[in-house]
Amino acid sequence: MTPAPSFRSGSGRLCLDFIRTLRHRGTARPEEELPDSAALAAWVGRFGPWESVPEAAAVGHDAQARQLREAIHTLVAAAREPVEGGTARAAALTAALSTAGDTVNRIAALPVPAPQLDGSGRLRWLAAAPVPAVLALIARDAVDLVTGPSIDRVHECADPDCHALFLDSSRPGTRRWCSMNTCGNKAKKQTLRGRSVSRPEG
Ligand SMILES: [Zn+2]
Repeated sequence: MTPAPSFRSGSGRLCLDFIRTLRHRGTARPEEELPDSAALAAWVGRFGPWESVPEAAAVGHDAQARQLREAIHTLVAAAREPVEGGTARAAALTAALSTAGDTVNRIAALPVPAPQLDGSGRLRWLAAAPVPAVLALIARDAVDLVTGPSIDRVHECADPDCHALFLDSSRPGTRRWCSMNTCGNKAKKQTLRGRSVSRPEG
């Protein structure tokens, strides 16, 4: 059994948090955070509507989850192509759809968790297959993201080791880091250190 990784959140969209499970994407040392069903169950327990999900519920779904993740990444990357100057985005999307569209559509069509009232009038979420149901939520979120106006607010973290995609909901739309607590803080510290090196004594 794999130790539960510290999954990153805070990208502003479920599908973007899911993409982050391939940590350090695009660098020389990418890190797979969903190597097996135990890790997938842990992710679904953290990001889905339940407190936890038994590992048994994720058995046989981890390959499908990784396939969905890469398909979403392909689509989001294509949808982020600049639109200025013509057809770059349309061409990129057409290419992405031919390889990734089926996967995302197939999983988006699966049943999602249904809201139900329990005997005390509290909300509980029902799903015959909780892990595929959460994968369906992720796929639907991705379809919504790449077809809506928010896609132009999806930025890549400026940290050279991170590259995580996040939805910038700040008013000016100039956010540079996926999180101020992690990558933003690291950059701030590096800037301060650089300053103290270049200006040793005032
Ligand atoms: Zn980052």
